[in-house]
Amino acid sequence: MIILKGASVSTGIAIGKAKIIEKEVLQITRKSIKDHEIETEIEKFEKSVSHVLNDIDLLIKDLAQSKDHADILTTHKMILIDPEFTSKIKRSISEELMSMEHAISEHFNEIVDIFNNMKDDFFSQRSSDYEDVAYRLLSHILDKSTDRFGNLDENSVLIMEDISPSSVTKVFAKNICGLCTEKGSKNAHSSIIARSMNLPMLVAVHGLLENVKENDNIIIDGNAGKIVISPDKKTIGKYSKILEQQKKEIHKLKKILNIKAETSDGKKIKLMSNIEIPEEIDQVIKNRSEGIGLFRTEFLFMDADEFPTEEQQYQIYRKITERCAPEPVVIRTIDVGGDKLSKLLNIGHELNPNLGCRGIRISLEYVSVFKTQIKAILRANTKGNVKMMFPMISCVSEVLKAKKIIEECKSELKEQNISFNPAIGIGAMIEIPSAAITSDDIAKECDFLSIGTNDLVQYTLAVDRDNETVSDYYQPSHLSVLRLIKMTIENAHSHNIKVAVCGEMASEKKYIQLLIGLGIDELSVSPGRLLVIKNEILQIDSGKAEELAGKIFSALEGEK
Ligand code: PEP
Ligand code: MG
Repeated sequence: MIILKGASVSTGIAIGKAKIIEKEVLQITRKSIKDHEIETEIEKFEKSVSHVLNDIDLLIKDLAQSKDHADILTTHKMILIDPEFTSKIKRSISEELMSMEHAISEHFNEIVDIFNNMKDDFFSQRSSDYEDVAYRLLSHILDKSTDRFGNLDENSVLIMEDISPSSVTKVFAKNICGLCTEKGSKNAHSSIIARSMNLPMLVAVHGLLENVKENDNIIIDGNAGKIVISPDKKTIGKYSKILEQQKKEIHKLKKILNIKAETSDGKKIKLMSNIEIPEEIDQVIKNRSEGIGLFRTEFLFMDADEFPTEEQQYQIYRKITERCAPEPVVIRTIDVGGDKLSKLLNIGHELNPNLGCRGIRISLEYVSVFKTQIKAILRANTKGNVKMMFPMISCVSEVLKAKKIIEECKSELKEQNISFNPAIGIGAMIEIPSAAITSDDIAKECDFLSIGTNDLVQYTLAVDRDNETVSDYYQPSHLSVLRLIKMTIENAHSHNIKVAVCGEMASEKKYIQLLIGLGIDELSVSPGRLLVIKNEILQIDSGKAEELAGKIFSALEGEK
């Protein structure tokens, strides 16, 4: 029995047999063409592109019920109709006398290499989209219509180096029970699709292909982020029971879809969603989320060669906020820093990016970027349900500076006669200990607070949230963290404003009673966790939760 760890894309258990799908490499010969063949080669290229575009349109129609997939396929269409792409291929054909397949393959290989070398999750995710488009186009040109996945069934756990978005759709249609890849990342499009289909999936499993053989018994534990290869009888027995239980729970959870989240004694807890990319909105709506408590907007800035314009941002924000209305949407302003933004902003190399130019610090440094985003948010508030939130606030003066810039943006929009809704809630994330300690001052200046426990734990306990080797030190229930959460809640309430937890702590069942006991008003969780957390809330008595929180504090204080 071998156990390997990976990043869990979606929760859930899969038990089945390994089906290893080797990476398909299309053989492209470095063929040259003759001068007189240029015209026909360009014509063939244009026809191939339009054929593949037609195929994608048909797929989009077939997938009418799934917006996630349709959006991703639309992205693939955009790659194909990009004038830079078409003119580059035509140039390679006419000036360098390359065959179209050679030109296409070279073009996409270059892009994929660039993305892969960026060592940045957001960029490497994009490479699989380009690989996918290249595969579609080249397999059409080379007439490779065979199904590389062959016979798969509900007992198959797919083992691959990596998987493209279109392949996830294909294998899902074959009813497989799970998927595991050696490469990949949680936010790749293929992962988003798998998550939206509730397909148990792990990515970034180092040593996967080396350790799995065809038809090995496999267990994917999406809850714990691990894969068990050739499990012993006892382990199979244990997981079979969990799987049974899981099926029953999924069935049960559907029954609470239309019930509002409140404790057994009637305390209302607003239960919202965190989203990282707009495609997640479908899950938010499907699971009847009471709005979006955290819309991370980083994807806009990290997946682009240029800053997104006000109009581009406005269109994206408006689409999300109008779909959610009348429920609130909390749009968090740009929260990237360190290496991640070096392509767009000149931050330079930082020794400690997490302690460097991050979050609100970037916005206050690059005011014009900040203003563009603020204006787009103000304009997107067409239904009056938008709130704006600042990340990485360390003290009230940063909130005041940001609010001043919002006022400037409002005046500028007015001067330009551009319509916007000035009534917008302003909030601060409490994710740095100094912010929690001074949350009294911050609360005075805000309409709401939201506790980002992911960073709060990291900064309070001085433990890197992404470093596996120190993960034992990463303790959300550490007395120091709990005191900061309690202090923040009390300060928010003393100024009559609500406070949410939007860090991952809110997505974990085991902390819900404690958070309610501490007096939290709202929770914002990943959309796939909504029903699980709602179910937990329904079973909690808020009075008992408060008592329990008191006992936990006494016990932890006694431990000192
Ligand atoms: C947090 O820090 O808890 C949070 C929600 O923000 P992010 O995870 O995006 O840093
Ligand atoms: Mg954070």
